[in-house]
Amino acid sequence: MYFWPSNQIFMYNYPKTIISLFLISFILFSCNCNKENNNNNNNNNNNNNNNNIAKAELTTNQNNKPKNIILLIGDGMGLSQVSIAQYYQDTPSNFDRFPTIGLIKNSSATHVITDSAAGATAFSCGIKTGNKTVGVDKDLNSVETILETVSKKGLSTGLVVTSPITGATPASFFAHVKSRYEYEEIASFLPKSDVDFFAGGGSQFFNNRKDGENIFTELEAHGFQVDTLSLPKDISEKKHAILLAKNEMPLIKERGSYLSDASKLAIKKLSTNEKGYFLMIEGSLIDWECHDQEVDKLIDEQLDFDRTIGHVLDYAKQNGETLVIVTADHETGAFALAMGDNDYGKIEPTLYSNDHSATMIPVFAYGPGADLFSGVYENTEIYHKMLSLFQNN
Ligand SMILES: [Zn+2]
Repeated sequence: MYFWPSNQIFMYNYPKTIISLFLISFILFSCNCNKENNNNNNNNNNNNNNNNIAKAELTTNQNNKPKNIILLIGDGMGLSQVSIAQYYQDTPSNFDRFPTIGLIKNSSATHVITDSAAGATAFSCGIKTGNKTVGVDKDLNSVETILETVSKKGLSTGLVVTSPITGATPASFFAHVKSRYEYEEIASFLPKSDVDFFAGGGSQFFNNRKDGENIFTELEAHGFQVDTLSLPKDISEKKHAILLAKNEMPLIKERGSYLSDASKLAIKKLSTNEKGYFLMIEGSLIDWECHDQEVDKLIDEQLDFDRTIGHVLDYAKQNGETLVIVTADHETGAFALAMGDNDYGKIEPTLYSNDHSATMIPVFAYGPGADLFSGVYENTEIYHKMLSLFQNN
């Protein structure tokens, strides 16, 4: 009887000389390949000379610790959402400007697929917690947030979002509740919180509540200037509470450059503190449009977020003491830039799901301390890396 040898037996039985010849050829071939790759790299280096100069400029001061950190969260933004800016606008994507890229794993303590509450709590508290819970551990004990920690050190803090300010992502930085849906309870945290500037929607949870309380009055009693009609033209001596919609902010056609403008105003206010600041900016509605299966609106939201990143990077480049981190809590919609009509020349942007997915999420970093953010790691490390960089403030 004859058996076709398995690979292992085949190798063992082969004459040693043939194996040696094979190995020598393989090594020589590998050397050539490496050489070719080096040549290609050199060509690329020459071709992208201007780009490299720009990046060298961007990486200056990276060994230093930052005075300020701006964390931008594109809620629901995976790599395909990030790629939108590459294909759907005339100007280059602002993501191209980042010298440091990493990837985060984002499962929660209770589920392989995280929700926004556990995802943001990983960033704000450095812990894996249960889905739906905000600023608490998996046993529902309150955990101090990075915003609270740096505020104790005397830094200023801010939050700018397009969702209600009581939404899971911003809430994870100032509230501690067992359910992300306790919007009124979450709003009650803000007057006494450590937040110096916040902007977003969700006014109904402040002035039209089941308990009849008016949180606007409380905010004013705690030193906030409250604006509900439009962004204030300039900063004041007071803290700022800006709530421009009953629920989420309106679509881009109606709200215009709100996200960029509110971010600039926040930076202006927070940078009056000599000790530094922490600011979180969220492109909240990227996630909402993915849930709603609205591809065109998703593209609008993603491009708005990209423009905001551009303004923040322009500021950080000029400022030189600010670390900018862009990432997401999870991907939403299993979004893909798929091929359309069996044509390699055509993209059909497609949402394959109406909920979150488990894919890893990119992290982009620029400024002093950016190098820390390369590699593949858990979402909780974002918190630990930020806190280590704030140690000397
Ligand atoms: Zn989310």
